[in-house]
Amino acid sequence: MKFAPDPKPVKSSILLIYTGGTIGMKADPVEQTLKPFDFSQILEEVPELGKFAYRIDSCTFSPLIDSADVEPGLWQKIAMLIDERYDDYDGFVILHGTDTMAFSASALSFMIERLTKPVIFTGSQLPVGAARTDGKENLVSAVEIAAAKDAEGHAVVPEVCIYFGNSLMRGNRTTKVSSENFRAFTSGNCPNLAEAGISIRYDMANIIRPEDWTRRPVFHTELDTRVSILKLHPGITPQVVRNIICGPETRAVIIETYGSGNAMSKKWFIDLVEEGLAMGKIILNVTQCLAGSVDMNLYATGKKLENAGVLSGYDATTEGALAKLFYLMGMSEDNAFVTRELDRNLRGEITK
Ligand code: ASP
Repeated sequence: MKFAPDPKPVKSSILLIYTGGTIGMKADPVEQTLKPFDFSQILEEVPELGKFAYRIDSCTFSPLIDSADVEPGLWQKIAMLIDERYDDYDGFVILHGTDTMAFSASALSFMIERLTKPVIFTGSQLPVGAARTDGKENLVSAVEIAAAKDAEGHAVVPEVCIYFGNSLMRGNRTTKVSSENFRAFTSGNCPNLAEAGISIRYDMANIIRPEDWTRRPVFHTELDTRVSILKLHPGITPQVVRNIICGPETRAVIIETYGSGNAMSKKWFIDLVEEGLAMGKIILNVTQCLAGSVDMNLYATGKKLENAGVLSGYDATTEGALAKLFYLMGMSEDNAFVTRELDRNLRGEITK
């Protein structure tokens, strides 16, 4: 990891944290694949950043990774770096591959409690050096958003967000929905926090702001990853469901259900859910739909799940629910505590 301080006099100071992803890649003519290049080259490719009166320092992680290789260790590294440098910067921009960006943004949103500064994830579908790249606009606007302050000098968006394809979205509400469209992410259950056109228009009523700007955030780096995800589909077998729900390594299970939290009515399925609950597992119901909420009272099978003790994930994304479980379980071995906190809206991740 290396810092490259920028000596210019400035209005805002931004730390760019470069973790990898397509934005910083270029074609390797020998291997015919995309390979990461050095961060100084990114700044050469985006001279527009020099037009801002901001101090932009950068920090490059080593090794640079395709985000398919992201592990919770990277989130801990990012959280610890932001903690260490929190007082030196007005905002943080994280360059990250798109494939797991929604997971990382969700995780960081929980790992940093009482945030007072922007933490903006961005990346691109095309390398920043490519002729039609989306990387330049994404990076320049992400920096502008991270630097934006109101009349009192407070950050306009003191949240963990993803900026991509002209939209600023709450990080823990996003899902990657396209592997080729420049609008690669959606936030189905939460309005975008800003839209970039000729100017950047913020939806101030929807942005979460701290009660006390003077209090330093709390950084939580302890995560418990003993979570499995069961995606329901027609034809799923009792053996597969048993392996996922009752596996000895699993402390919590997210069931990705149909529609508003509905599952098949077969007795073996409810029996296995009850068996998992009797083993002490936390079971959380999240919908497979990109928009809408779980409501286990709507259909008979949903009601059976609720009666058995399955918890509602409300309108959380799977990425948000997973991150919330990692964070809460990392805080306590007490499942009653985790269950109670799951039901609360902690970082704007559910509508409640
Ligand atoms: N595979 C790349 C990554 O997630 C894709 C991207 O950056 O868009 O790192």
